[in-house]
Amino acid sequence: MAPKTRPRSVSHQTAGALEDAQISRLLTWLSVAAIVLLLGIGGKAWYAGHTLHGGILWCFAGLVLLNMLYFARSGNRARQKAHLILIVGLLLGYLIASGGESNTGPLWFYVFPPLLFFLTNLKTGTAILLLCYLGVVVVFQFPDLPFVSAHYSTDFKLRFFATQAFEAVFCFVLEAGRLKARNQLLALAEAHEQAARTDELTGLANRRDMQQRLASEFSRYQRTGRHFSIALIDLDLFKDINDRFGHDAGDAVLCQFAQQLTSLTRQSDHAARWGGEEFLLLLPDTSLLQALTLAERLRARVASARFEFKGRTLPVTLSAGVCSMAKTDTLEDLLRQADQHLYNAKAAGRNRVHPRVRSSVAPV
Ligand code: GH3
Ligand code: MG
Ligand code: MG
Repeated sequence: MAPKTRPRSVSHQTAGALEDAQISRLLTWLSVAAIVLLLGIGGKAWYAGHTLHGGILWCFAGLVLLNMLYFARSGNRARQKAHLILIVGLLLGYLIASGGESNTGPLWFYVFPPLLFFLTNLKTGTAILLLCYLGVVVVFQFPDLPFVSAHYSTDFKLRFFATQAFEAVFCFVLEAGRLKARNQLLALAEAHEQAARTDELTGLANRRDMQQRLASEFSRYQRTGRHFSIALIDLDLFKDINDRFGHDAGDAVLCQFAQQLTSLTRQSDHAARWGGEEFLLLLPDTSLLQALTLAERLRARVASARFEFKGRTLPVTLSAGVCSMAKTDTLEDLLRQADQHLYNAKAAGRNRVHPRVRSSVAPV
């Protein structure tokens, strides 16, 4: 069995979902705050006689509102983010070009770097920011352009860029640090998650992992009616191996057997160490006959294989009890029947698979 490719780990999925929800909430609050602020400042400008300026700010408030409605309808968060960045970028451009109230427009530019890095990634944020700085340079350098009405002193321009550079670099470093810490935490969580599902000695899935897989395979069976089978495998007289050759030899046998198990099963099958020298095979979309055939092949291979430890050959055989979902109703009963078959195989003399296949009546 080749190593199974796992879907994104639970830690990654949880972290991704949490971040999406967090960004979504933040976008909503940002949009609401922006609308309130734009309406308020626009109203104030209007009453102060700056009707054009007030009207333009209200238009921006309308755009932010439209973007909120767009997201409510489409659920497209990526577009909502892109639209918001565009709207904020245009608004800041307008405020710098017009000067806003009392030439305070450029002050709003300081909200841009942290917002950009939070909403995009480091690369995209940096690219957009540089592009915007280029736009600001044009506005500062060419005050006679038709859409530019503000005039700033050279001192102001220099201080604006110096403080912006400081803020942008600081935001970049903070965000890079946050991302690094986040990724390290996720890697740690993933390693723990993996360890909690894996048997340390053999590297196979452990009982906990198999119980979850059994439960999900059972619910798939209930949904789709597609049968599956299991094989409960127990190494014969394993205590004797420990007693005669030592515990380390027993461990080596368990590892070698796990490799045999892995190499014989399909990509879609699952093998786990069920406990001690017992293993469980979960075989999706497999009839009882197919499962018996596989278990028999494994038994024969193990019986004829050379298990060696420190130059000594170890006698290893297995017994297996096989059961198909077609033969039972519940997961507990499936496991109980497989256990009963294993018991019968042991009682019948070991090194065998039960139930026995009769040539005339093939089990289904
Ligand atoms: P049977 O054929 O009836 O299954 O006999 P058995 O000797 O295999 O079964 P029994 O339950 O009497 O003994 C199982 C032994 O497996 C006892 C235990 O020490 C050994 N064992 C369980 N886990 C490990 C392990 O991780 N490493 C080693 N070396 N031995 C283990
Ligand atoms: Mg045993
Ligand atoms: Mg046992």
